[in-house]
Amino acid sequence: MFSILYCFLPILFIPFSIYLLKNRNSVSWDVRKGKKCYNCKDNLDLSNEDLFKRLLDDKNHKRLCISCSRDMKLSLIKNPISSLKFKFHKYLFSKESDKMVYYFFVFVFFFILIDIVLMFFGIKSNLYLAYGTINIIFWIVNTYKTIYTTTKKTSE
Ligand SMILES: [Zn+2]
Repeated sequence: MFSILYCFLPILFIPFSIYLLKNRNSVSWDVRKGKKCYNCKDNLDLSNEDLFKRLLDDKNHKRLCISCSRDMKLSLIKNPISSLKFKFHKYLFSKESDKMVYYFFVFVFFFILIDIVLMFFGIKSNLYLAYGTINIIFWIVNTYKTIYTTTKKTSE
């Protein structure tokens, strides 16, 4: 019983995610094109001409604003671990992080498959703890990503 509850716990995240997506606008595109800082999401100086040149290419234009890049340099000196935050925020805006969802499904599917095979042989495994935990971590990261890569919709 506990195993079922544990595995279905992340369902609670779904209505929250839907709520977030409805009330927030994605800034991923702006960040990838270098129009907004990837850490604080403030606008950067980017001429329309430069933006136009970047429209079609697939290059990485993610940048930090002046104040965030100063903060990052300071944190690199003072506390290198806290500078990982910048890397993580940059990662959240990357295309690789979009693929995270697929890796996650393959991973969980694999665990469930092993679990079923073991059950078939009458072995009671506690694998649900592994995929249940991965499931929860995934949803926490994914929800954080949704919040981080979006901004609140402004009423027009
Ligand atoms: Zn910034």
